[in-house]
Amino acid sequence: MSEGTQPIPSGRSIRLLAWMGWVFFILTLPLLAFSFYNYPKARTVINRDACVANLKQIDIAKEAWALEHKKRAGESCEPESLKPHLQMAWEQIQCPSGGRYTVEAIGKHPECTATSHRLE
Ligand SMILES: [Zn+2]
Repeated sequence: MSEGTQPIPSGRSIRLLAWMGWVFFILTLPLLAFSFYNYPKARTVINRDACVANLKQIDIAKEAWALEHKKRAGESCEPESLKPHLQMAWEQIQCPSGGRYTVEAIGKHPECTATSHRLE
């Protein structure tokens, strides 16, 4: 055998490699099943967290607007009023789950219509 050449695998070693491949595949099946099973749940949590971040941004903008205009608790606030205090336009702030935002009155948290999307 000259230098730099690989020995030709025997039929036995090919069968061993194929068997190891099957074992590896079968061992990873539960992991794949677990991932597919948990993906929707993980996606729900990610969407909720992103929505809560939006709600916090709206809440902070609303509080800044209320301070600036000397508004008291219970007074109404329109989304258009928040434009100077938001990092992006009101129309661009969207719930990743398709919920709709309402600003609510001063002193109350903004809300999303999607289930479990709430500021605590
Ligand atoms: Zn939402």
